[in-house]
Amino acid sequence: MSTPSTSLADTPVTALKGVGPKNAERLQKLGIRSVQDLLFHLPIRYQDRTRIVPIGSLRVGDQAVIQGEVELADIRFGRRRSLLVRLADGTGSITLRFFHFSAAQKANMMRGSWLRCFGEVRNGPSSLELVHPEVQRVDEGEPANVEPALTPIYPTTEGMHQLTWRDLTGRALELLGSGGLQELLPEEVLREFAMPPLADAVRLLHRPPPDQSQRLLSDNGHPAQRRLALEELLAHQLSLRVLRQRQRRRGAPVLQGDGDLQQRLLDSLPFRLTGAQQRVLAQIRGDLAQPHPALRLVQGDVGSGKTVVAALAALCCVEAGCQVALMAPTELLAEQHLRNFSTWLDPLGIGLGWLSGRHKGRRRATTLQALSEGELKVVIGTHALFQDDVLFDRLGLVIVDEQHRFGVHQRLALREKGVAGQVPHQLVMTATPIPRTLAMTAYADLDLSVIDELPPGRTPVSTVVITDSRRDQVVERVARACTEGRQAYWVCTLIEESEALQCEAAEVTAAALTEALEGLRIGLVHGRLKGPEKEAVMAAFKAGEIDLLVATTVVEVGVDVPNASLMVIENAERLGLSQLHQLRGRVGRGAQQSHCVLMYHPPLGSVAQARLAVMRETNDGFEIARRDLEIRGPGEVLGTRQTGEMQFRIADLLRDQDLVPGVQALADRLLAQHPESVAPLMHRWIGSKVQYADV
Ligand code: ADP
Ligand code: MG
Repeated sequence: MSTPSTSLADTPVTALKGVGPKNAERLQKLGIRSVQDLLFHLPIRYQDRTRIVPIGSLRVGDQAVIQGEVELADIRFGRRRSLLVRLADGTGSITLRFFHFSAAQKANMMRGSWLRCFGEVRNGPSSLELVHPEVQRVDEGEPANVEPALTPIYPTTEGMHQLTWRDLTGRALELLGSGGLQELLPEEVLREFAMPPLADAVRLLHRPPPDQSQRLLSDNGHPAQRRLALEELLAHQLSLRVLRQRQRRRGAPVLQGDGDLQQRLLDSLPFRLTGAQQRVLAQIRGDLAQPHPALRLVQGDVGSGKTVVAALAALCCVEAGCQVALMAPTELLAEQHLRNFSTWLDPLGIGLGWLSGRHKGRRRATTLQALSEGELKVVIGTHALFQDDVLFDRLGLVIVDEQHRFGVHQRLALREKGVAGQVPHQLVMTATPIPRTLAMTAYADLDLSVIDELPPGRTPVSTVVITDSRRDQVVERVARACTEGRQAYWVCTLIEESEALQCEAAEVTAAALTEALEGLRIGLVHGRLKGPEKEAVMAAFKAGEIDLLVATTVVEVGVDVPNASLMVIENAERLGLSQLHQLRGRVGRGAQQSHCVLMYHPPLGSVAQARLAVMRETNDGFEIARRDLEIRGPGEVLGTRQTGEMQFRIADLLRDQDLVPGVQALADRLLAQHPESVAPLMHRWIGSKVQYADV
């Protein structure tokens, strides 16, 4: 498809009259470089100055133009000196209130003069009021010379006035008239979605005619707004699809074994897989049997049993004679995987290796050699696995646990460690559920599986939220639980980013609790303990040799000690929902009733209050994710995915989520039927950011 030479995407804003170096710099701050950028900079709201509203019909909150005769003008000396003017138009009257005014202004508003005012209606002491309205003197009965369109109010930056914005967008719209914004959506699509062509939508949003619903516009529900959001979401969807297609074109080892190792592991387990685990495992096996690299995201709520699914996938790979790398975000978690995997794989005689950042020298060299010679079939580690000197004999599968903590680029680095010319399959496991529409948008380059069922026999954790002034009662509760043979966690949080301070706080708390809870065996883990020390404490806790584990948030993910049934979180108000959910997920893993105590330090802000209420109301990770999305917005929920990779100019993943299924179908259709518009769409909306699609 040819791009017209007048394309506004290539026309710098400086081509517009009124954009000198100063304004160009200001616009640049908002990411506006081309005339097209300016046209995509949409008003945040509108004012209706298109008609004169009868005073009698005004309601509080309205922004309106009114016109009437001054019945009374009076200076009041109350708490603040003010000028009160009563304006009437035959349908009713209203008070104009001014705290600052010049003599000339006052003279302008004498009894009997006619005024036209614009302002926001508020409740006053005795009647409706406009406080400091814009005022213009008019002649009695002067014809309503009002604005022809709703007045746009633009998001702005220092030094750019609304009048400048109106002026500049006006000029940009003139250029638009000559076809500078190419229509990239096929006509039949617009008809189907009942949406206007792009140029019409842009024109309408900058200058909505008076008959357009202001309410629809301010809710961003106008077809013109949705038209732009749709196109932007579509462009993102396409870029991820293209990335995926490119990925699919590369080769990967076909991993299809005889199932013997998997069966032997299954036979050794004290439980049967849940239906959800079996379903997801079948999907993974299907992927691995393809000659193209799989890229699958497995979501499963805390405790849904992802680890054993990962182990079975690993065995599938080993059966086919290839190696597996399993990567975890923290040492603690990697160590725990190592423990689980060695319980499961050692009896099968499978070589298991361990690589962490701490391992140096001889031990590391030995592991690296065993890996490169193929003696080790499975290696578990942290990001130490990414390093250049880690070479594999036949790497067939990479499993990444808790993916949202790794950047996409890190994940991709491992991909290049495959057998010559081939890319290993990839499986990404996350316990942070992402609402479906969000996942479909943000992870359109991945296939999705959900383990949506917990193993049988789990009782939901009961959660209480209490102030830290009742700390003594909490300590007593810990004592009771532990004397009854159960185990507990006590998690210390600190707002400081510094790990050192966090660890110190945990040490202080542990000392205080040791004193208060004489007779209990108390352990401490935090990020600054050495690997073996941490390992020893965790092993002792797991073996029931420690009653109470005082910890920093290092125990947030993955730690699995079924006998622990009480979780105390200090300063819970400082943590986000997904973190709280992860922490709480450390209990409720056995058959006995578990409890979670969320202690907070008052006063509680409204967001924190909302979060803690959600925790009290539900244990369902997907529900929590949905509420989290409402409270924090998609940017925060997606973490690294959002930074730079998933930023939208117009679309909003929360507000526009109902568009997502349509966008998915549309992306398929465009790729199949209108491939020529794919590149221009990506270029328009993603532009230079498209490069991440190349990795
Ligand atoms: P997560 O999904 O949070 O990583 P884990 O893999 O740690 O969960 O599993 C949580 C616990 O549930 C572990 O003790 C695990 O052995 C156990 N488990 C896993 N699958 C089942 C099952 N199908 N039936 C019973 N227990 C299971
Ligand atoms: Mg896990």
